[in-house]
Amino acid sequence: MKSTEDRLLVSFPFGCNMDCVFCLRNRHPYRSDFDLSEKQWRRLFDRLRALMRVMRGRGVTTLGLGGDEPTVAPEWLLDAVIALAAKEGFTKTELMSNGLKLRDGKYLARLVKAGVNGFALPVYGSTAAVHDGVTQKKGSYSALLRAIKNIKARPGVSLKLHTIPLKANQEMLGEIVSGMRRLGVKCEIWGFIKNVTDTQVNYPALMADGFAPRRQELVDSGMKKSGGFVRYNICTGEIY
Ligand code: SF4
Repeated sequence: MKSTEDRLLVSFPFGCNMDCVFCLRNRHPYRSDFDLSEKQWRRLFDRLRALMRVMRGRGVTTLGLGGDEPTVAPEWLLDAVIALAAKEGFTKTELMSNGLKLRDGKYLARLVKAGVNGFALPVYGSTAAVHDGVTQKKGSYSALLRAIKNIKARPGVSLKLHTIPLKANQEMLGEIVSGMRRLGVKCEIWGFIKNVTDTQVNYPALMADGFAPRRQELVDSGMKKSGGFVRYNICTGEIY
């Protein structure tokens, strides 16, 4: 039977090398000292394998690698999950990253060789000042452009971009989409995180003013309703 979920998303909770203004990852970090025994890792991988088989049985063929930021997870762990997915018949392995480490062509080549054949990256501005302001990481915009170039140079590897409407970029959403289109990549506009009440981030101050995207803008951006997913935390075994 075909699943309503379109992917299995494996989370790597090892923090992030950026600090986006709206993100809680670094404000409520998971523990980063996942110094588990071989036996504990084996159990976590057994559980993941079983989940992969259930998802494959439902017709799911896409594995997402998510975060926090998956490229800061130990390489052996990322490699092991990618290899297991290939063994279990997943044909698409998409890494969801902030793009910072993907500016390094050698690192990107290593991921592709390991089995990653798709990337999904965020763009928060059409200028370095705005993008870097949102990520709170100087140089992240130029790293992103380099990452896009590196990925596009890889045949058979897909690239998806998205942005979210914020007060900081609300005047340039169209330019973000058209700028990325000029680079030959589709950029979707996603909705802002809803119902977030965490007091460590002033969400009302970050949200775009009365943002109501025009239908055509969304159509132009190629936005489509994405399917659901099942998430597995590789370090705790939680399924949610
Ligand atoms: S890149 Fe992602 S995980 Fe990292 S701070 Fe930004 S939103 Fe959070």
